[in-house]
Amino acid sequence: MKMNTRIRRAIAAVAVTGMPLAGVAAQAAPETAVPLAGTPVEEARRAAAEKAAAPVPVSEHVIVISIDGLRPDAIVQYDAKNLKRLMKEGSYSMEASTILPSKTLPSHTSMLTGTEPAQHGVNWNSEEMEKHGHIATPTIFAQAKQAGLHTAAFFSKTKFEHLAVPGTLDHFEAPHNFLGKRHADKTVSRAEKYLENNKPNLLFVHIGEPDFVGHFIGWMTDPYGWAVEEADDEVGDLLVAADKAFGAGNYTVIVTADHGGHGRNHGSDDPRDVTIPWITWGKAVHGGTYLGPGIRTMDTAATALWLLGVEPSDVNIGKPVAQAYASAKIAEF
Ligand SMILES: [Zn+2]
Repeated sequence: MKMNTRIRRAIAAVAVTGMPLAGVAAQAAPETAVPLAGTPVEEARRAAAEKAAAPVPVSEHVIVISIDGLRPDAIVQYDAKNLKRLMKEGSYSMEASTILPSKTLPSHTSMLTGTEPAQHGVNWNSEEMEKHGHIATPTIFAQAKQAGLHTAAFFSKTKFEHLAVPGTLDHFEAPHNFLGKRHADKTVSRAEKYLENNKPNLLFVHIGEPDFVGHFIGWMTDPYGWAVEEADDEVGDLLVAADKAFGAGNYTVIVTADHGGHGRNHGSDDPRDVTIPWITWGKAVHGGTYLGPGIRTMDTAATALWLLGVEPSDVNIGKPVAQAYASAKIAEF
């Protein structure tokens, strides 16, 4: 245990409690006939072939980790060793972007459905199950489950209930305490246990610490840095569990965030709020690729499904970040 782990956990506990400090686009099937291009017959055959061709799975196990409120620049500034390792060995962008408003529930809904707020309509940011119920837009869990895959999610905030649509997750956990929050060590240890006993195809893990501390003390403060370290430690632990469950190199990870933050808040179009990290590592990832700007949070949904060989929903506007899995350049950071 690192020397300052106890301090970091104490700060995080304060923040949680709020107590003052004391297809490949569906690969088209090979055409067996070569009718004249542009004829109605050719068009009909092409359409039928595209419809019939199922996406090809790239990876059987995908883990999406969302670190709430993690600014990309915090990774290097606070020396998040596990995340830096994933960046070095995998492909990443420090210039991905989330939606507006850059708030937790609307943003995670976009991340996990591949739709924009105008489509999914989640414009609230608290647990309001009585008023709104579960979201109507298909999640990646729904799509994967429909394809016969095993899905699981571990949330550190109660409001994620809106995304846990019955019948779409083989297992999910969200805190049901007065504060509506759960510490990362609890969330991740529960996810580790689940990995050990089950082998989900799609696993989503949400870590809250940087956001908890950001709101309480401020983004890019020392305590925020400790929260980033804590989140990073938990990512490392989760990967150890995943190595045991799937075998090293047999699964693909995406690490991202729902938003950044500045001062003690987020939600605006300020670049510090809307810029998020996007890191992918593991099976099928070509290491050393810097992905640059242009990745949007909806692309996480599209990429996770593409990796699993699952058709996205009709409303999913995200694009698989296929270049992370197909080309190689040298990363610098
Ligand atoms: Zn958030």
